[in-house]
Amino acid sequence: MGTERRNDDVLGCVLAALGTPFLVLEWLLSLPRRRRRNRLLAGGKIRCPHCLATVYIEGRAVCPACATTSWGSYLSCPNPQCDWQTNAVDCPTCKATIFLETT
Ligand SMILES: [Zn+2]
Ligand SMILES: [Zn+2]
Repeated sequence: MGTERRNDDVLGCVLAALGTPFLVLEWLLSLPRRRRRNRLLAGGKIRCPHCLATVYIEGRAVCPACATTSWGSYLSCPNPQCDWQTNAVDCPTCKATIFLETT
């Protein structure tokens, strides 16, 4: 009888001790996912989630609102009087619209 009781206590202690590391582990596992997304945006290109082609979000961009042509991000217009911006780009390969998560 005494032995069973002690086993339960040990199990309870182990579970309690495991609870916190599991939360930390979950957080650590979510880090590469977040970092990868940031790195892709900073690198000026993303991967199309539909056809997996590389889609550049930086280059020679023409603003659809004021027709300003510039070298830089396709996601916003450098003209301060226009201020056009978007969170979506079209994949040149499969023509799907890809929405970007902006922070
Ligand atoms: Zn513009
Ligand atoms: Zn595509």
